[in-house]
Amino acid sequence: MDDYEKLLERAIEQLPPEVFETKRFEVPKAYSVIQGNRTFIQNFREVADALNRDPQHLLKFLLRELGTAGNLEGGRAILQGKFTHFLINERIADYVNKFVICHECNRPDTRIIREGRISLLKCEACGAKAPLKNV
Ligand SMILES: [Zn+2]
Repeated sequence: MDDYEKLLERAIEQLPPEVFETKRFEVPKAYSVIQGNRTFIQNFREVADALNRDPQHLLKFLLRELGTAGNLEGGRAILQGKFTHFLINERIADYVNKFVICHECNRPDTRIIREGRISLLKCEACGAKAPLKNV
């Protein structure tokens, strides 16, 4: 190893650790089963909790995206119709992109606030505020 490499190695060691962390937000997978003509999302509340969102808000989005009706029952969501969990998780990923992830810093540390008649996505990490469409 020549001096330059040693120097480089030392420089890398001194970088703060977060430079190498890939801050990836793990979205919990929804677990669903189809029974008859309905789809039950068994861990719906857990998913909403992990996203730090009101389950009703997430459900409303999901129902609109899937073009169906449904309701919450305990920790579960019950959808009218048959939906694969692949499709459900894809829609939840859309929700995360639109309503959870900060578009400035890509972190999930956000909450939804209201200012007058508009909803805003407020980021706790960087302070950015972005208007949201109504679900
Ligand atoms: Zn941010």
